[in-house]
Amino acid sequence: MSEPLLDVDGLCTNYGKISILRDVTLSVGEGEVVALLGLNGAGKTTTLRSILGLTAARAGKIRYDGNDITAWPAYKIARLGVGYVPEGRRMFKDLSTLENLQLAENGRGGEWTIPRVLEHLPKLAELRSRKAGRLSGGEQEMLAIGRALVSNPRLLLIDEPSQGLAPLIVEDVYRILGELKQTGVAILLVEQNALLALKIADRAYVLDSGRVVHAGLAAELAADRDRIRTLMGLEVAAR
Ligand code: ATP
Repeated sequence: MSEPLLDVDGLCTNYGKISILRDVTLSVGEGEVVALLGLNGAGKTTTLRSILGLTAARAGKIRYDGNDITAWPAYKIARLGVGYVPEGRRMFKDLSTLENLQLAENGRGGEWTIPRVLEHLPKLAELRSRKAGRLSGGEQEMLAIGRALVSNPRLLLIDEPSQGLAPLIVEDVYRILGELKQTGVAILLVEQNALLALKIADRAYVLDSGRVVHAGLAAELAADRDRIRTLMGLEVAAR
């Protein structure tokens, strides 16, 4: 079997002396959507930050597209085509939608030009002159996705895209993620809302206290509410 696009093996990450990730092993294949689930504080964001080179790994190996990127700086990892849609969206609030997209273009070239992003996300085209700080939460999430796309990623790491959004807007954001999947971008999708993420994911991992406690096909986990309840609690299984 060929090597997956992203291969995380035995990742351990600390904040200071506190051990957060303990032996996390996961992979994402070319064009695959993989959900990384878990409750608050399980270590999902820390996993993304370690892959991105933003928080150093203490042990373990991270391979991307055949390169051992474990100790690489974040800018070099980004150049390899790893895009990031952070939790809380983090954009330049005083700049317009269009200016935020222009700043994210990195000259790597590729199919995701600003006009193509605006075609896929027509809402952003309507709002191209509006300051990012004046966009709604859902519009900001779309801008965050658009900004990641113009860097032409092969792998997108997306952190809690549904967070703080009204249900109808969440549907919109997930429709767009479903469309992105069709374009062949690989996605590692962090969510607390397991059932939502499992709808578009091919496979899923569940983290608990920094450990992988479940790995398997998304459809199998989605169909097994008892398992979700055991892994993530009653409230998640009932959603
Ligand atoms: P959430 O959904 O709340 O973002 P998460 O699964 O993404 O949860 P992380 O943000 O990775 O979890 O946090 C994992 C643990 O690491 C938590 O106990 C958190 O309090 C701790 N933590 C996160 N960032 C730091 C930091 N900068 N310094 C110290 N501890 C941190």
